[in-house]
Amino acid sequence: MRILQENLSELKKSIDEDKITLVAVTKTHPVEKIMEIYQLGQRDMGENRVQELLEKKDHLPSDIKWHLIGHLQRNKVKYIASFVHLIHSVDSLKLLEEINKEAQKVDRVIPVLLQVYIAQEETKFGLEEQEIEVILQSEAYKSMNNINIVGLMGVATLTEDEEQIRTEFKVLHHIFNFIKTKYFSDKSSFETLSMGMSADYKIAIEEGSTLIRVGSILFGERNYKDINL
Ligand SMILES: *Cc1c(COP(=O)(O)O)cnc(C)c1O
Repeated sequence: MRILQENLSELKKSIDEDKITLVAVTKTHPVEKIMEIYQLGQRDMGENRVQELLEKKDHLPSDIKWHLIGHLQRNKVKYIASFVHLIHSVDSLKLLEEINKEAQKVDRVIPVLLQVYIAQEETKFGLEEQEIEVILQSEAYKSMNNINIVGLMGVATLTEDEEQIRTEFKVLHHIFNFIKTKYFSDKSSFETLSMGMSADYKIAIEEGSTLIRVGSILFGERNYKDINL
């Protein structure tokens, strides 16, 4: 508790909370740990797997804002549509259509981010700039009434090379500005740039991030053996 409190206040000191949303990434951590950070005032929590999120959610206060930050399979959307606060990881028109369909069923407009591919790694999910344009120009997208695209998200390459990370964030910020100007100039809700994790959040903020997703800097290293991944 003590350590978590110190970690959280250290982190908060280093960011401008009026400008940056802090999402505590709670994956692999038990309900008790999440309750500790909740009691310290934290409300935005991020999980990357639907099943794990659902298992925890029922044991936790209902005013937590749950962010889905990991790759989302279409057949899982229905389980989170009624409550999810923000889906960060939309990487196809088909997924967007599914979210729209499930949101309609529960009479919601679900805020989402499009995930942009910026890393030099085969394993990272995401869209290229041109694919984003194809989606935004599609008739399918234009007819959706139950999703609201509020920004973009990206994950930088896992590397020690800070210049490479900075370059990737610059690219993402550039794409964000381009897409905002071209497609969302009349929509003030397009304002979230989700970039930065524990290792690179400082660079991300310098490069224009409005939302950071941090886990290990708060809770310590994750132990994946503790949980069925
Ligand atoms: C796990 C995860 C994070 C948090 O990672 P840390 O290095 O622990 O801060 C952020 N974003 C995504 C998409 C993640 O999967």
